Amino acid sequence: MLEIVNNFINGEFVEPHKKEYLDIYEPATGSVYGRVADSSSHDIKIAVESAKDAFPSWSGLSFAERAGYLKKIAVEIKNRSNILAKYESRDTGKPITLARKVDIPRSVENFNFFANFSENFDFELSIENEFFINSASKQALGVVGCISPWNLPLYLFTWKIAPALVVGNTVLAKPSEITPLTASKLAEICLDIGLPKGVLNIVNGSGLVAGDLIVKNKNIKAISFTGGTSTGKQIYQNSFDSFKKLSLEMGGKNPAIIFADCDYESMLKTVVKSSFTNQGQICLCSSRILVEDSIFEKFKTDFCNAISKLNIGDPIDDKTQFGSISSESQFKKIKHYINVAKNESGNILFGGNAIQLQGRCKNGWFIDPTVIEGLDNRSRLNQEEIFGPVVTLQSFQSEKEAIEIANDTQYGLSATIWTKSHKKSNRVAKNIDAGVIWINCWMVRDLRTPFGGMKDSGLGREGGESALRFFTEQKNICKPK
Ligand code: NDP
Repeated sequence: MLEIVNNFINGEFVEPHKKEYLDIYEPATGSVYGRVADSSSHDIKIAVESAKDAFPSWSGLSFAERAGYLKKIAVEIKNRSNILAKYESRDTGKPITLARKVDIPRSVENFNFFANFSENFDFELSIENEFFINSASKQALGVVGCISPWNLPLYLFTWKIAPALVVGNTVLAKPSEITPLTASKLAEICLDIGLPKGVLNIVNGSGLVAGDLIVKNKNIKAISFTGGTSTGKQIYQNSFDSFKKLSLEMGGKNPAIIFADCDYESMLKTVVKSSFTNQGQICLCSSRILVEDSIFEKFKTDFCNAISKLNIGDPIDDKTQFGSISSESQFKKIKHYINVAKNESGNILFGGNAIQLQGRCKNGWFIDPTVIEGLDNRSRLNQEEIFGPVVTLQSFQSEKEAIEIANDTQYGLSATIWTKSHKKSNRVAKNIDAGVIWINCWMVRDLRTPFGGMKDSGLGREGGESALRFFTEQKNICKPK
């Protein structure tokens, strides 16, 4: 039976006004398993009204009361971890073990973290002189919009919703039409724990229609968006008319910079992960691997050898380490880039092909982990975001050259640096134009730290205080003593 995903508005699941739906595919099998509401202007309008109506009482609650709801949501996500991991794996094609270990626990953590962190956030500031007292306070914005992508569906959806809610906003959120299922399960949880009606509204549909209507709606005070840079640009242009606050987390072309004096075994293990976790579909994945020339040949051999051991297969199998690409359009895009590499005279060291598995997954969208060398950093493969399991290798001779290559891109999201020298790693980190830098590690996150990209990778920062500041407005009240 087909899974039907409706909108969640004013505490109820409702059909889209036009009764139109989009297909939802299981990428590992290439078949349709459900239908998701294709919302239009009426749906957005009633969702915004519902969020507006809910705002006075929700923002009027104490922090502890709102945090209490967040903690209840976290408990219920945790209780339903197994089934949520199954849904996430089916929707995205990611290995179920990854959904169990990363996506779902992090969604729990997002709610718990912001519930606890907001307790110590400084919402009031008093400044006085001889004659006057100023009281500066931070207060909720009103109705805010949260738009998230398909690669880490519940993880990124909740990363936006939790801080927005805890400071007193009401939310209109849109998951990607490609992976809407766990957002809908989150709505069920909100119903079950008794979250007041209208506080969280989830509207489904395409980015070009539903997403665009959210961005252009004048009653929505801020948009927190994660997705591609070209979409972010469109959102920037489309929201200027209503002076919305914007947080844009966008694409990347992240370098892994490997010096000869690194801890080689630890580096190799982690660079395989940073390149191919979630089939390379994480904005923080390394896509340009820069290796000091004295170890370049050795690295090439060892890297390809390590990749050849990855277990590629059905995402629902516990043994699978590398699943399918999340959508057919992404699958075609990746194949296109592999052809571009061939035309640009790239040398494919490993992979480079679509894979046909046997049995249940025979029509799924699988592509080999792919390693390419021999391309100049100005080549399209090294400049454009592919967002898949394709990495390039380049060698460098000096620290200066490594920094130059790393920075020679429009993006500036993240970078990893591999060396045992503290001085060198600190120097390189200081000179790399990226918002998130890992030295001798990858994807280690303390949720209090600012997260976001420089250049075309981002506008603003998420995480900790940055998120709470983004979702609040400051007001100063001055009076004589
Ligand atoms: P998209 O930009 O295509 O979509 C992101 C979200 O925006 C989706 O919900 C999409 O809806 C919606 N959307 C699309 N067009 C519009 C529009 N005109 N107005 C409003 N909303 C719109 O990105 P992907 O989903 O393809 O995600 C991959 C991208 O996300 C990569 O570039 C990746 O680097 C980036 N990303 C960045 C992260 C970061 O933290 N910097 C983290 C994770 C991913 P729909 O899908 O329904 O069309």
